[in-house]
Amino acid sequence: MDGVFNENDISHIVDADKAHVWHHLTQHKAFETGDPRIILEGKGMRVWDQKGKEYLDAVSGGVWTVNVGYGRESIAKAVYDQLIKLCYFAQSAGSIPGSLFSEKLISKMPGMSRVYYCNSGSEANEKVFKMVRQIAHKKYGGKKHKILFRDRDYHGGTLATMSAGGQEERVAQYGPLAPGFVKVPHCMEYRAQWDLSGEAYGQRAADAIEEVILAEGPETVGAICLEPVTAGGGVITPPPGYWERVQEICKKYDVLLHIDEVVCGIGRTGTWFGYQQYGIKPDFVTMAKGVASGYAAIACMVTTEEVFDMFKDDASDPMNYFRDISTFGGCAAGPAAALENMRIIEDENLLDNCTAMGERMMGNLEALMEKHKVIGDVRGKGLFLGAELVADRGTKEAVDEKLVGQVVAECGAQGVLIGATNRSIPGLNNVLCFSPALIATADDIDQITDTVDRALTKAFG
Ligand code: PLP
Repeated sequence: MDGVFNENDISHIVDADKAHVWHHLTQHKAFETGDPRIILEGKGMRVWDQKGKEYLDAVSGGVWTVNVGYGRESIAKAVYDQLIKLCYFAQSAGSIPGSLFSEKLISKMPGMSRVYYCNSGSEANEKVFKMVRQIAHKKYGGKKHKILFRDRDYHGGTLATMSAGGQEERVAQYGPLAPGFVKVPHCMEYRAQWDLSGEAYGQRAADAIEEVILAEGPETVGAICLEPVTAGGGVITPPPGYWERVQEICKKYDVLLHIDEVVCGIGRTGTWFGYQQYGIKPDFVTMAKGVASGYAAIACMVTTEEVFDMFKDDASDPMNYFRDISTFGGCAAGPAAALENMRIIEDENLLDNCTAMGERMMGNLEALMEKHKVIGDVRGKGLFLGAELVADRGTKEAVDEKLVGQVVAECGAQGVLIGATNRSIPGLNNVLCFSPALIATADDIDQITDTVDRALTKAFG
């Protein structure tokens, strides 16, 4: 760490944090009486805390975000140059980075054509929900307004996205939620709901969506919102055949397909988007975290020309346009950073690296599974991986969440930051999460899994 902080600065920063910052997803009583970690600097795959301790970051900033790694001077420079030229103008006008980034993005998304800028994953998802509702009014007299979402999927922390929230632990105590959102079953074969496997399981899980559409009435269902690979809900990869069938069902009942790429988007699975792994043709794609790797706050809602055309001005209807604005969708730092982020991914071949390192990491995790009975399943795509910890491989009973926390803490103590699924509801927080930056080397991957190996031995023997 080459920071300029002295001990007085550090203790001031720690005191100010303890006194005034309300941290995300944090039980503060434990946090304040413990030893809070404040991350001061980052370079490449590594970050340093207030004590100068170095960590290999296996979670890209904690939540699948810093895809190209820390300390990228070219992104900082692109942002600086843009801010000096023009920091902001509302998106009702155009901008140089807004135009150029949308052109670049669309070039990687065949079939899509329009980019709507905003600044968080939740917000991008809400834009789709609003469009779906408006389309329902324009085309179906308001009737086809329901939005389906899947058990265990997460789409954000706002009221409408929580209403489409499949993780009970994130939604409990925040009701009443918004009406018109309907849950469908998840597609996780490891915790199977049907006595089937492989393609038959994938088709059955998709058929469950059709059953919900029929029960609700197809004339009331406008869209379905799905993660290509479920992230915080447990790193859930789809069974074979699932997406083919989901798409058939969407076509059959005229249900728009909204793919939430907030985690998978921009390289995380080894292709630009997770949906491209599964041959999906979406009507809407939303993205946020990896779009600018955390160097600026930017999110995008991307859709087809067909959807766009529905909102084109029509003199006979003064309401016939998307009556929405996102103030900071006009912040020019976002697309400037995002454009440079994409250039880096291309020039450094990071999609290929992600695929190769993802395979290496999956191999390492499978080897750990042979050694540690507590690992019940390993799943993932590219550098988006999870290891589910169970007390018994037969019953698949989840291990005590305290032990999961112990493994995460021990990895941290040994200099590797890993994650785990949400806390709060026992039995749903037993998945260790790994999402190193796309620049990870073989040595980095081995360091992560060697550390997890030692931490598992310490916690479970
Ligand atoms: N969608 C998914 C799949 C996410 O994992 C998240 C956040 O973790 C969101 C949406 C919400 O994004 P944001 O926190 O930027 O609002």
